[in-house]
Amino acid sequence: MLRARGIDLPPLSIDTLQVNITKLCNQVCRHCHVDASPARREMLSPEGIARCLEILERHAQITTLDVTGGAPELHPGFDAFVEKAVALGKHVMVRHNLTVQLDGHPVTGESKEYLPAFFARNRLEGVCSLPYYQEYFTDAQRGSGVFKKSMEAMRRLNAQGYGVEGSGPVLDLVYNPVGPYLPAAQAGLEADYKRELKSKFGLVFNRLFTITNMPINRFKLHLDKSGQYASYMEKLLAAFNPAAAAGVMCRSLISVDHEGRIYDCDFNQMLELRAAGAGGRPLSIFDFDFERVLKRPIQFGDHCLGCTAGAGSSCGGATAGA
Ligand code: SF4
Ligand code: SF4
Repeated sequence: MLRARGIDLPPLSIDTLQVNITKLCNQVCRHCHVDASPARREMLSPEGIARCLEILERHAQITTLDVTGGAPELHPGFDAFVEKAVALGKHVMVRHNLTVQLDGHPVTGESKEYLPAFFARNRLEGVCSLPYYQEYFTDAQRGSGVFKKSMEAMRRLNAQGYGVEGSGPVLDLVYNPVGPYLPAAQAGLEADYKRELKSKFGLVFNRLFTITNMPINRFKLHLDKSGQYASYMEKLLAAFNPAAAAGVMCRSLISVDHEGRIYDCDFNQMLELRAAGAGGRPLSIFDFDFERVLKRPIQFGDHCLGCTAGAGSSCGGATAGA
């Protein structure tokens, strides 16, 4: 489609290093494209973490570290990793599922109740999934009891100043549709979330990111099983938006897996579509060369229609105006 429309989308920059440090998670969400769960054990090695820090230190152009998982806080090196990145002057975002604060470590039982204070001390940006502001829909997607725990976890973050407009550290929420349809407009939904969470629970946050469910892994399986895969893909195709395509996140971000392999994004990582430089050589953090990585061709595929439909979708929400 890109070729037919004469659309060329080379990488523009690498301003964000997104690192998936573990697939271990305290939850098992229905839409999870990582297939994360308490049974997963993949972890980025201490050498891998050291290498990421070296890359951040050497390249001022990479201003942001985006730490993801699984639940990244379950990695034993998480605290030191983010503290060191902050000390390097980087902006650090953590994909935080909220419930890990209350559930603790699913294997060792270690408490994670210190996280809100730790986040605040390091001014980490918390990016937290909350599929809806109503209990029924959130629990349907993320598991029974998740909504109530998420409200309590948000309360603890608010108590540390998170989400307080203008002064506190930043708390973003992430919405994704419960079923095979496109998200509603981001600005309107953000206003709904703010109104409902404030009036019903007294909770505040800064921004809402709307994310389209990507037709891969666990969500694709769900679509296949319910006979909805073809119609969902047609829906995404019909909603293709060139402006959203121009803003896809793979043009300014790279994604690293627990083995240090480099991908264009988290989704390509899950599909094992590894990024390759000149001559088809796979890219890795262990022989990182900024220019080589920047000049790679992006590995587009059918699943990319999830990023280019409607107002667009990325780890930072809509890409073409909400
Ligand atoms: S909390 Fe996030 S990483 Fe964990 S299972 Fe749910 S979607 Fe996947
Ligand atoms: S899924 Fe495709 S369009 Fe979206 S960020 Fe990844 S490579 Fe880019």
